[in-house]
Formats: sequence, C-alpha cells, structure tokens
Amino acid sequence: MAAIDTALAARVSAEAGTNAYKCYQCKKCSTGCPVAGFAELHPAQIIRLVQLGDLDSVLDGDFIWLCTGCETCTTRCPQGIDIAAVMDEMRIIARQTKRVKKDAPFANILDLNLKSMKRWGRLYEVELLMLDKLTRPSSLMDDVGMGIKMFAKGKINPLPTVGDRTQMKRMLAEIEKIKGERS
Ligand code: SF4
Ligand code: SF4
Repeated sequence: MAAIDTALAARVSAEAGTNAYKCYQCKKCSTGCPVAGFAELHPAQIIRLVQLGDLDSVLDGDFIWLCTGCETCTTRCPQGIDIAAVMDEMRIIARQTKRVKKDAPFANILDLNLKSMKRWGRLYEVELLMLDKLTRPSSLMDDVGMGIKMFAKGKINPLPTVGDRTQMKRMLAEIEKIKGERS
C-alpha cells in the first residue's frame, strides 16, 4: 500500500483554510450534493483522496469540474469542513499544473462566460452552452432532450438580450486592473 502523502492536505489547509483530516466520512456532503450522481466520485471521496494525498485520482476524474460551487456540502458538514473551497483548490491546482483534462466538463465555462458578457453586456446562455459543447465535441448530443423541452416551455430564449456593454467592459477592465495589482 502506498504511503499517505500529507502535502495535498497541507496545501488545502494553507490555501483553502480548511482541514480535510477532520472528515470522518459521514457522507452528508455527498448526499446533499446536486451533482454527486453524475460523476465517478462524490465529495466525500474527494475529501478522502485529499487526506491520502492522491491528487492524480482527483484530477483524473470529472467531479471537480461538475461541482457548481453551491456550497450545500459545506453547509451540511458536521465537522465544519469547507468542501466547496476544497473543490475550488483542486481546480486551481489543475490549472496551475496544466492538468485540466481535455474533455473536462465546464472547465472553460468561466472564460466563456466572461467573453459572452463582454459581447452582449450580459450572459447569453444559448451561446455559452454551444461554445462549451464545441470545446467538448463528445458532449454535443448530451441534454438535447432536456433542451428541447425547456425551449418548448419558453424557459430558453434563443436570442441574446443585449445589456449595457460599456458598463460591462468597464467592470471587466476594473477586474483586470485588480488582478494586475495582485500579481
Ligand atoms: S460531511 Fe464533512 S465529515 Fe461528512 S463526509 Fe463530508 S466532509 Fe467528511
Ligand atoms: S459545492 Fe460542489 S461539491 Fe459541494 S454540494 Fe455543491 S456541487 Fe456538490
């Protein structure tokens, strides 16, 4: 059996401010997680991998990219572990070490989101979904049935609603300025 490597949990403690070793695997996080059923791992298993220092198994899976950051897990954890922050940290490590899987679901969604807001002044969901699917051709036909149903019920507007592009560009320029000052 491979030795436990504590470096990953130490990094999580330093950067995400939470102690993965407090987890006793009650799985309350996983039972409340809205996306736990859609990947090969669930939140409690990710925390266990952090305890073991098994970064490869975390980054080889899809779960960290499916996580919506809803924080239900964090709210439910009896040990006060900020599981959502652990997921953030795993994504940061994946990007820093250039280990984002090619077909990782929604890995590019924030970039696409920003570009969409720059273009239209607000989020254009249909464009966002299509661009995300183009980065992952294998997912092209996923959710088509649900999309048709939502369209039929008027839940999806096929056309963009144009917002205040100037204000959006100003806000994004401010964000870039702050990022520059921090780096
Ligand atoms: S809810 Fe907390 S203690 Fe329970 S499995 Fe999840 S992280 Fe561990
Ligand atoms: S923050 Fe992520 S891991 Fe936690 S419940 Fe929400 S989707 Fe699941």
